[in-house]
Amino acid sequence: MAECDHNCASCSSKCEGAPKYFNLNQYSHIKHIIGVVSGKGGVGKSATTSLIASAYQKNGYKVGILDADITGPSIPKAFGVKDAISGNENLMFPQLSTDGIKIVSINLLLPNEDDPVLWRGPVVGGAIKQFYEDVLWEDLDYLFIDMPPGTGDVALTIFQSIPLDGVIIISTPQDLVQMIVGKAVKMANMMNIPILGLVENMSYIECPNCKTIIEPFGPSKLIDIANHFNIKPLIKMPIDPKLTTLVDAGEIEKYDTSFLNDLVKYLDHELRHKVKLTKINLDK
Ligand code: ADP
Repeated sequence: MAECDHNCASCSSKCEGAPKYFNLNQYSHIKHIIGVVSGKGGVGKSATTSLIASAYQKNGYKVGILDADITGPSIPKAFGVKDAISGNENLMFPQLSTDGIKIVSINLLLPNEDDPVLWRGPVVGGAIKQFYEDVLWEDLDYLFIDMPPGTGDVALTIFQSIPLDGVIIISTPQDLVQMIVGKAVKMANMMNIPILGLVENMSYIECPNCKTIIEPFGPSKLIDIANHFNIKPLIKMPIDPKLTTLVDAGEIEKYDTSFLNDLVKYLDHELRHKVKLTKINLDK
């Protein structure tokens, strides 16, 4: 038996105490599952999930998004997906984006997209279970899970019950303080979920005329914080009004994601080769 790296998601040994994952239906096979997390809401987690998923799709991968952020289920809006999820007695059928990304979201079950989700944790957990087990995902290379912000009940259910290959942490310069990133890092570490790296969103603005880079929230803290927690600094993303406009129009797939191609290559390499991912020092 290979040496235990404490990543049960990639291990077939039936150890005592190993997590009991939700069971994917027999018609679906998902190669890699990545959770996208943030310490708090409003940092652009859903927009970043959508862009990374879109970048993968444009690079020829088969991609799905499970929108588990019931506090702000904005994935369908960003992709302009409106129709309710349909199904038969056994399976649910995901909605398809223009480019063919499979999408499920609690918002696609609500009569109106602006209805609030007034469900308690266990009910939401049940919905996530159904989204994972009963959706006809078919063959996917990558499933991205847009996690609820913070470290609450639903995030815990996902960490415990879905075999994540790892998580990407999203933050912004003003939020990129030790405490907020630290909470996400520690939660992932306590659940033995590898951290694939840190993305700094809204890091800078590029002047459309003179191309000067402005850092409205002060200098980037990506490298310092990533070093502090011994995780990989992945990328700095600019504030771009074009992105906001495309999200609002439901056309995020029209955004040029070529700046994410290196990130796609890096993550794909890490996950395909199961390179041992950074183990975090909890004392930090
Ligand atoms: P979260 O999922 O963290 O709550 P969202 O992804 O919903 O945050 O983003 C909040 C708002 O900010 C959305 O309107 C989104 O389009 C916008 N936004 C996010 N990142 C950027 C960015 N880098 N540039 C411009 N607008 C952004």
